[in-house]
Amino acid sequence: MLPYGRQSIDEDDVAAVVAALRSDWLTTGPAVDRFEDAIRAATGSRAAVAVTSGTAALHVAYAATGIGPGDEVVTTPLTFVATAATAALQGARVVFADVEPDTGNLDLAAAEAAFTERTRVVTTVDYAGLPAEPERFRDLAHAHGALFVEDAAHSIGSTWDGLPVGSIADLTTLSFFPTKNLTTAEGGAVVTDDAALEARARGFKNHGLVRDRDAQRWPDEGPWHQEVHAFGLNYRLPDVLAALGTSQLTRLAAFKARRAEVHARYDEGLADVPGLLTPARRDAADPAWHLYPLRVLDGRRREVFDALRAAGIGVQVNYIPAYWHPVFADLGYRRGLCPNAEAYYAQEISLPLFADLRDDDVDRVVEVVRATLGA
Ligand SMILES: *Cc1c(COP(=O)(O)O)cnc(C)c1O
Repeated sequence: MLPYGRQSIDEDDVAAVVAALRSDWLTTGPAVDRFEDAIRAATGSRAAVAVTSGTAALHVAYAATGIGPGDEVVTTPLTFVATAATAALQGARVVFADVEPDTGNLDLAAAEAAFTERTRVVTTVDYAGLPAEPERFRDLAHAHGALFVEDAAHSIGSTWDGLPVGSIADLTTLSFFPTKNLTTAEGGAVVTDDAALEARARGFKNHGLVRDRDAQRWPDEGPWHQEVHAFGLNYRLPDVLAALGTSQLTRLAAFKARRAEVHARYDEGLADVPGLLTPARRDAADPAWHLYPLRVLDGRRREVFDALRAAGIGVQVNYIPAYWHPVFADLGYRRGLCPNAEAYYAQEISLPLFADLRDDDVDRVVEVVRATLGA
């Protein structure tokens, strides 16, 4: 089965992991610092905090904002459930606002209409790799005294108005799952320019431990002493995986270029087919495409999906609206809440897209889609 996404691992990646395994540090060592430096460089941000997954990155980011019961987080339903689940785990109420019909990104006007005096955070998702107007969401958040979190699990390497993803939001979260734009197997990061947000993020990912004597309540306890001032978790990315990430980051530009070629080849092969919508773009964006979200109109999505799967092509659907998950339904969220997101979901198929995908595989996918629709 041709997968819809997969990692690209070369001999340099293997050598980097082996070197980390032979070093003195399997975790919490210098490879993590090097990876954080490389992420800062790639995202144009002041600080990067490496963590164990994109989900951990979101949890850490929300913890850093200090949200809790009584607070609201405005976000998109067209995302992996973790974008909303981690806010709910912090005790906040998740308020879903609808998406733009063409891009699937959170709609600025819908998000603004969802703000109340309890809104503390607005979280966008750069769906498929296309940034969701980050400057305007930052301005919207700040005008209301809220923070802007950008879930950039899809979009490391993308730019908006020439600015790299990670350089605009108050907190940007990344995922390094194997299907994403680069991988550490499991892994993620939070990036920020704000020293206080960085400090809280670093605390939460490491049990809230305070080792700096100047910050301790009982600094004279002894040289072994460390204190917890706020509860945290262990979300530390090991050196073995950080070394893989640093090696992968050297090829981010090449991954982006190949993903753009595949994306363009699908556009070329499918743009003329009646009953299909190829992915929308925005002039300000230069995306590192994570997904190719094809939309099949006239209720024929399932037919095309089944034909592709039957041909050994491992397509996926991204995403079921987050509030359709029973955990949200049981909290009272109703279907119909965000009609654009629901319509997008009903039409969407993610075609295979990854750096090592071959042109003849792309052409085969195009042929199956065309043949199914009689084009
Ligand atoms: C993949 C993904 C996540 C979660 O990342 P993991 O590394 O799998 O935990 C969060 N948000 C979005 C939009 C994602 O695609």
